[in-house]
Amino acid sequence: MAPKHHPTPLSGGDRKALSKELGRARAMTTILIEQSAEARAKGEALIRQADKLLCESWNERMWADGGPIDPSPTVDQAINAAYAWLEIECSRCKTRRDVDLAALRHPPTTFVHDLASRLRCSKCTNAGRRPSVNLLQLASRSRQAVTET
Ligand SMILES: [Zn+2]
Repeated sequence: MAPKHHPTPLSGGDRKALSKELGRARAMTTILIEQSAEARAKGEALIRQADKLLCESWNERMWADGGPIDPSPTVDQAINAAYAWLEIECSRCKTRRDVDLAALRHPPTTFVHDLASRLRCSKCTNAGRRPSVNLLQLASRSRQAVTET
C-alpha cells in the first residue's frame, strides 16, 4: 500500500501542527491496540470465571441431589473452565468412567446434560444392552483416562 498523502499546508505553523498530529495518530495506533488486547484478556478471564461458576453450580446440584441434570454447561464452557472430564456411571452395572470432553465427537456447543442419552457403558454395550448413564460430576482431571466408546 502506498503511504497516504497529506497535502502540505502552506504556512510553516500549519506544517508543524500537521506533523505533530500525524505523530500523535501513529502513537495512538499502538496505545489503542494494547488497550484492546488488555480489555480482551480481561473479558476472556471473566468468561472463564463465569464458566467455572456454572460448572461448580452444576457439580453442587449433582452432589447434593443427583439432578436435575438440565440446565448444565455446554461442553466448551466446561473445557474453558478447565473441567474437561465428565464422570459417569452406568445405570445398570454401576461401572464408572471418566469421559474426556475434549475428545468427544459431539459439537462443543452440546450441553453436558445432553450427553446422558448419547454416552454408553462399554461393558453393557458389549453384552448387547444399551442402558442409560448417570452423570455424576465435572472434573478437572481424570481418575483413569478412558475415552468415549
Ligand atoms: Zn454397564
